[in-house]
Amino acid sequence: MLVIRTKKEMNAWSRALREAKQTLALVPTMGYLHEGHLSLIREALKRTPHVVVSIFVNPTQFGPNEDFSRYPRKEADDLTLCAETGAAAVFLPSAEEMYTANATTWVDETALSLRHCGADRPGHFRGVCTVVSKLFNIVQPDFAVFGQKDFQQTAVIRRMVRDLDFPIEIITAPIIREADGLAKSSRNTYLTPETRPGALSLSQALFAAKASGERDSATLEAAARKHIEAAGWSVDYATVIDSETLEPKITAEPPAAMIVAARQNGIRLIDNLILS
Ligand code: AMP
Repeated sequence: MLVIRTKKEMNAWSRALREAKQTLALVPTMGYLHEGHLSLIREALKRTPHVVVSIFVNPTQFGPNEDFSRYPRKEADDLTLCAETGAAAVFLPSAEEMYTANATTWVDETALSLRHCGADRPGHFRGVCTVVSKLFNIVQPDFAVFGQKDFQQTAVIRRMVRDLDFPIEIITAPIIREADGLAKSSRNTYLTPETRPGALSLSQALFAAKASGERDSATLEAAARKHIEAAGWSVDYATVIDSETLEPKITAEPPAAMIVAARQNGIRLIDNLILS
């Protein structure tokens, strides 16, 4: 497996593959890899043997008081996992390599990005769209795989690809969960034996909403909030949305999903579930 640290080398490898009439898939990540990330690599491998995993903790998608500096990093283990899973290359640029000093150009999706996580984390999706655009230009993949775990992010990326004519097929892969339902996340490392049971309230609230068969969104949302708050987490949102437009829905008729975000002691977790 190749370990590539410069944009130039990444671009050259991608060009060589294209000249050899091969296709290439990209799996963008921020590292500290877990089974959720590896499932994206496996999804990519169904389409091409040439899968590149990018590992980059992108500073521009973190707000000033967020967890950029303490975001977990584990490069050697990540490389082993990528190699074992069958990635052909890992692209690991430094922040200096990735961003030209004093860069002044941004990619900003201006509709889907405004609500939900975008409202709670101003500038977050601008950072995401900018770095993903840069990765698309550097790697020039035929396919890129994203997780449904980041429901809004996937919708924003799909919109950006449509609007800016990136010739890339976006693939969405399902959420991988722990046995007890907690969605796998690099940020779960912030949880302690004391706080982890409360974090389970997010997935519990979603599964309860689906199992209830209730269709009134306000009722579903109130029940989810109550359950998560009872576990000691503060709810940023618990919303029934149209899973295509991300607009809030009055009733959970198809195509509906419920998305939640909650925080406790500086830890912010998200989860979602397709309701119908
Ligand atoms: P991250 O490293 O958190 O930026 O995530 C990189 C990619 O992995 C994104 O497309 C995420 O949606 C995806 N991902 C993260 N956690 C999971 C999970 N539990 N199941 C499936 N995909 C995931």
